[in-house]
Amino acid sequence: MISFLDLQGINAGCRDELLEACCRVIDSGWYIQGHELIAFEQEFAAYCGSRHCIGVANGLDALTLTLRAWKEMGRLREGDEVLVPANTYIASILAITENRLVPVLVEPDEHSYNLCPEKARAALTGRTRAILAVHLYGQLADMPALSALADTHNLLLLEDAAQAHGASIDGCKAGSWGDAAGFSFYPGKNLGALGDAGAITTDDDELANILRALRNYGSHEKYRNLYQGVNSRLDEMQAALLRVKLRYLDVQTALRREHARKYLEGIRHPDVQLPHLVREDQHVWHLFVVRSGQRAALQRHLTEHGVQTLIHYPVPPHQQPAYAGWGACSFPLTERIHDEVLSLPMGPHLSADQVDTVIRVTNAF
Ligand SMILES: *Cc1c(COP(=O)(O)O)cnc(C)c1O
Repeated sequence: MISFLDLQGINAGCRDELLEACCRVIDSGWYIQGHELIAFEQEFAAYCGSRHCIGVANGLDALTLTLRAWKEMGRLREGDEVLVPANTYIASILAITENRLVPVLVEPDEHSYNLCPEKARAALTGRTRAILAVHLYGQLADMPALSALADTHNLLLLEDAAQAHGASIDGCKAGSWGDAAGFSFYPGKNLGALGDAGAITTDDDELANILRALRNYGSHEKYRNLYQGVNSRLDEMQAALLRVKLRYLDVQTALRREHARKYLEGIRHPDVQLPHLVREDQHVWHLFVVRSGQRAALQRHLTEHGVQTLIHYPVPPHQQPAYAGWGACSFPLTERIHDEVLSLPMGPHLSADQVDTVIRVTNAF
């Protein structure tokens, strides 16, 4: 079986360094908010080209706490509208509704699956205060156009960069385009911890300062609480492991790009639509997502021939029971995408032979 992802295999490649990092933390006797966190924050901020990185417990908290901090700063208020792509992973929407802000779902661009600047412009109302751009499947959204739209209308721009560590346009990486960005280091992400972890990047000193308090009970200083914060810290063990993994990220991204290039050149089938690549640097191939009107049959064919696939995602947020309260709403393009997408094996664990096999089996469908 060619596995969709092989975390054991990926982490085996740096096992000795991971063990050394674990031992360093164990022996330090300091497990929360210490040197490893500070060092990882500096290294990841430098990697993204941002002034600040604030480690938190996971990617959902990175998004939720950023919106929360903007409320504390008076830049957002309950009931304000946030534009967000309708086909995103539900975490983007949860971050908005958790803050009692109103998600305004926008149909994506048909080719990139990312927020479409023209459709976003058409969705603006007098209550729009922010845009949440998601770099879905690892491809940066059209950030030049979305930044211009945000500037013109005085909107906050938040990136959901959970799938796009290292993707760039004109040398500017994910995490450096918006007013802030939320990252996830969930184990299966391109930069994955060995447990839950997340971070925010931003150039805004005040925002960074408030986020550092919010993640730690609302306190900058022990026993003095400026905000009704939460406990969402990135612990020393995960920070130390992430420092190791960060050193491998660019090499692993290069492998993902190599596999994607072969898929794009090799897969030729009338019922399989390939992803659309604008610029090489813009995509880090968290997922390689094809589309097919015959998805169920294609998935069955691949499984029968030893190729594991997954669906990202089978049900769009507006059709989830969690949001039944929104009543009937319809996003035909989003619904069609959810009915047709299929993710092929992708990751640094794949060998060239395995990629060739996936291509051969797909073409034989
Ligand atoms: C993974 C993911 C998140 C949430 O990250 P967690 O660390 O799992 O909380 C948010 N948005 C997107 C697009 C994701 O893929």
